[in-house]
Amino acid sequence: MIRKQVGMGTNTLFWHDLLVGDCPLKAKCPRLFRLNSSPNGSVSSFKFWEGKKWEWAFSWCREFRPYDTIEWQLLRLLLDRVHFNPEVPDSFIWTPHKSGLFTVKSFSLELARTSSGWHIVPIKGLWKGLVPHRIELFVWFSILEKLNTRAKLAHLGIIPPSEAHCVMCGTFTESSNHLLIHCSFAYHLWSWWLEVWGLQWAFPADLRSAFIQWSPPHKGIFFKKVSNGSTTPTPMAVWSPPSGNGLKWNVDASYHPSLQKSAIGGVLRDSNGKFLCLFSSPIPPMEINLAEVYAIHRAIKISQSCTNIMSHNLIIESDSANAVKWCTSKDGGPWNIHFILNFIRNSSSADSSVEIIHKSRAANAVTDCLAKQGLSRADDFIAWV
Ligand SMILES: [Zn+2]
Repeated sequence: MIRKQVGMGTNTLFWHDLLVGDCPLKAKCPRLFRLNSSPNGSVSSFKFWEGKKWEWAFSWCREFRPYDTIEWQLLRLLLDRVHFNPEVPDSFIWTPHKSGLFTVKSFSLELARTSSGWHIVPIKGLWKGLVPHRIELFVWFSILEKLNTRAKLAHLGIIPPSEAHCVMCGTFTESSNHLLIHCSFAYHLWSWWLEVWGLQWAFPADLRSAFIQWSPPHKGIFFKKVSNGSTTPTPMAVWSPPSGNGLKWNVDASYHPSLQKSAIGGVLRDSNGKFLCLFSSPIPPMEINLAEVYAIHRAIKISQSCTNIMSHNLIIESDSANAVKWCTSKDGGPWNIHFILNFIRNSSSADSSVEIIHKSRAANAVTDCLAKQGLSRADDFIAWV
């Protein structure tokens, strides 16, 4: 991909650099290379000007034998194809780009063209914008095995090899594949997730295979979102845990105008991010902010049905600023959901340990999936984990 463009010939080695064809002259004419009295000479050291004509001048260690003569004829033929410009210095040219200059784009295209495509296939399906950009980057790094896992840090000599064990299980070496697929912690998380969606999956050897396997076999937007959402690590870093021994609901709603369907979903987690409960339910068709109020209402109802939950400080997080505003103000809000709003207001004012807050959509990927899933459900789904 990188060739030498010979000008004056002073910085180009005649036998070693690529002048003509696809390999250096020392490989094309090995006998002559061994015979030449200056095997490391530059191009300019083998030439002189005869008037305006370039002439080659070589000195050999002995007389030519028949096989040497054959190579000599070949060398003459090759050199006839070479044209030098003695006005300019020698330079490198980048052959994938017609200008001869290196560009990142031409390098990337060349890489895609010449590689077997192993790194292209999974990455193609990654940049969908379904999860925050930093999570996409994290997945990208993990597929390329560029995560700074303990195995890698030990390999680089940053930590001692004795500290390369996985922080989750403490048993195996912490590689990307172990941490995100094979570790017992990751395995349980995957198993839980697969069970939620009623799917069966043979755990692959590495993340790249995992990502390829999860490429959506169906065309539906919903399945694509579920599969992309589930192959992307749940954003623990984006989701902020409740403080102390508090618990947090993330709730969300979904409205499908053409199907005239609405649904709600929610996830309850503790301060370690551990999933405790989740729900996904169809509701009568209604505007999205109203549906969000229903989601908050459902989270409170479920919480009140379990004394264990109500003994903790409870945060309910919604991505609808309107729904949160209606629920937390003393009055106002759409008249047709006043009875629901009043129930929420009474619950949160009677029990000051319930707090309803607004959080942007970015932190809500799991709940968003559950809400969408509710659209295709006939009845309520509640699971305690
Ligand atoms: Zn582990």
